[in-house]
Parts: sequence; C-alpha cells; structure tokens
Amino acid sequence: MTTALVTGAAGFIGSRLTRRLAANGWDVTAVDAFTDYGGVDRKRRAAARLAGEADIEVVPVDLVVDELPTVLDGVDTVFHLAGQPGVRPSWGAGFEDYARNNVVATQRLLDAATDAGVARVVYASSSSIYGNALRHPTDEAATPEPVSPYGVTKLSGELVCGAYAARASLTVVALRYFTVYGPGQRPDMALHRLFEAALGGAVFPRYGDGSQVRDLTFVEDVVAATEAAGRATAPGLTCVNVAGGTQVTLNELIDRVGELVGRPVPVERHPVATGDVERTSGAVGRAAEVLGWSPVVELDDGLREQLAWHREQLDR
Ligand code: NAD
Repeated sequence: MTTALVTGAAGFIGSRLTRRLAANGWDVTAVDAFTDYGGVDRKRRAAARLAGEADIEVVPVDLVVDELPTVLDGVDTVFHLAGQPGVRPSWGAGFEDYARNNVVATQRLLDAATDAGVARVVYASSSSIYGNALRHPTDEAATPEPVSPYGVTKLSGELVCGAYAARASLTVVALRYFTVYGPGQRPDMALHRLFEAALGGAVFPRYGDGSQVRDLTFVEDVVAATEAAGRATAPGLTCVNVAGGTQVTLNELIDRVGELVGRPVPVERHPVATGDVERTSGAVGRAAEVLGWSPVVELDDGLREQLAWHREQLDR
C-alpha cells in the first residue's frame, strides 16, 4: 500500500483527491487549516463527507505553525494542495496571506518532508504563473511571467520545490492547473457565481468585456492527473500543465449557463480586474508523456454535473 499525505484536504480539489486516493487503495493522511477563504462551512462539510464516505478524518493542521513530523511519519508521497487561491484579493494588504499560505507553508512542508525521507511531492501550481503568455497553447517551456501577486506566490512555491528537489533526496512534480470547475467549485470562482446567479436571480458581476478566454478543466480530470503524478517517475522538479483543452470566452459561458438553467443570467458590467489574464490555454503533450494522462470530460457534461450540484445545494 502506498502512503500519502494530502494537504488542503478540506478544499475543493483536495477533498476530491482524498476520496479518489482512498478509493484506489492509498493509505491517506489528510490535513487542512480550515482557513476562512471562501467560507469555513464548505470545508467542514467536505471534511464531514470524507469522514462519512471514506472514513478519513481531516486533521486540523496549519502548515505554517504546527509541528509536521507526526503527519509525515511513514509517508512516501505528499500531495500538496493547501494554499491561498484567488487572483483579485492577492493585491494590497491581502498579499500577506498569499505569501504565508503559498510560500512559507510550502517551504516548511518541503523541509519537513526532506527530513522525514519522503520520496515524492506533487505540488498544486497554477496556470497563473504564465501571466499573459505569448504562445497558445502554452507549453511548459514558456517563460513564467505572472501578472498577479497570486501568480508570483504560486511560482515561488515551484521554485521552493526546485530548491529542495536539487538536494536530490526527493522529486517534485508541479502540476500547473488551468481553471478547475465541477461540483464543489469554490464560491469565489466565476462559474460558481454564474450558476448561483442563474438559479437565484442575482446579478453576475462581469469584469471586462467578457472576451477573456479560459481553458477549463473538470475536477475529476484534475484529480486523475494528480494521482497519476503521485505514481510518475520524473527526476528533480518536473512542471506539467493540467488543462482541459476547452477554449471558451466568459460571454460564451454566460450564455451556456443561461441555456442550461433555462433563464438568462443578469449581468452587471465592471472594469477589467487587474491581474486577470486575457487568455489561458495549456498544451498537454507533457502530461500525456510524463503522467500518461489526457483530459476526458467534455465541457457540456462537466457543466451539467456542476449545475446538478448547485441544485442539490439549494434543496438542502
Ligand atoms: P481551496 O481554497 O478550496 O482549498 C485550499 C485549502 O488549503 C483550503 O481548504 C485551506 O483551508 C487550505 N489551507 C490554506 N492555507 C493552509 C495552511 N497554511 N495549512 C494548511 N492548509 C491550508 O482551493 P482549491 O481551488 O481546491 O485549490 C487547491 C490548490 O490548487 C491551491 O493550491 C490552488 O492555488 C491550486 N489551484 C487551483 C485552481 C482552481 O481553479 N481551483 C487553479 C490553479 C491552481
């Protein structure tokens, strides 16, 4: 049996990854600091579901302050998904949380993992490290030029991983996730707010003219790629895009969600948000090569699954 530590296990992606690993026979220790970003309740609910369905307790651990050796005891693979997500709040005074939870937390974890003899770390990085990329689809050789403080901290996390991997005792696969969606999506993300607006009649705040293009990746595809990274043999630090291959504008999404719900989404216009990039699109050739993974979920199917989840929440 392979022994894993999942950090950020009460989060959107981490909770689904934990469930998948447990179902596939991994022996999983799950930790999370239950930060208030995006609401503590959703994290408590995710943890309760993991306890009920997978018999896994999410242990409250803050990677920045708590002792880590105990949770790393006997672990050979770490899935490091804990972090402070979100582009807009990363400007100004908010940056401190980003530096803390994305950089300091990663350094502390990697340090303790090295001491504990962990063989492999999978780090949840982000497409935001590319900034406004010059080439599309963007491959991993592109020069990272983040245009948001969030992107800067995710790239710093990769660099921290690189420094520890250079000590040769552990290897790291950094997965650059492209906008993840699906059931349980974080409430600050555009699609979540779009579905809520369409179902509840609220107004959707659209930043910019809606022509921004996103490569959306379904959460089950993301956790499949993440598990595969935990089994991959790759030297040192290897960076890999995890992208769904769906090129869709925000305006197209607004229309599509309106069609699926059966009611147009009321839109309120806002200026372009600083730090939001114009286009993301990830090349997935390296993911196929290193992880043996390609995305399988079509956008329409994924959107239907997310809509069903929102309806379920409303009925609760
Ligand atoms: P999320 O906020 O739902 O989950 C992150 C979890 O990390 C939270 O439950 C939070 O409590 C926990 N956490 C934060 N700081 C911590 C600390 N110091 N110690 C322990 N736990 C801590 O976010 P998510 O959308 O599931 O994202 C998971 C990871 O994937 C993040 O690292 C994020 O940067 C990255 N990512 C997400 C997306 C996306 O589209 N959702 C895209 C690119 C990268």
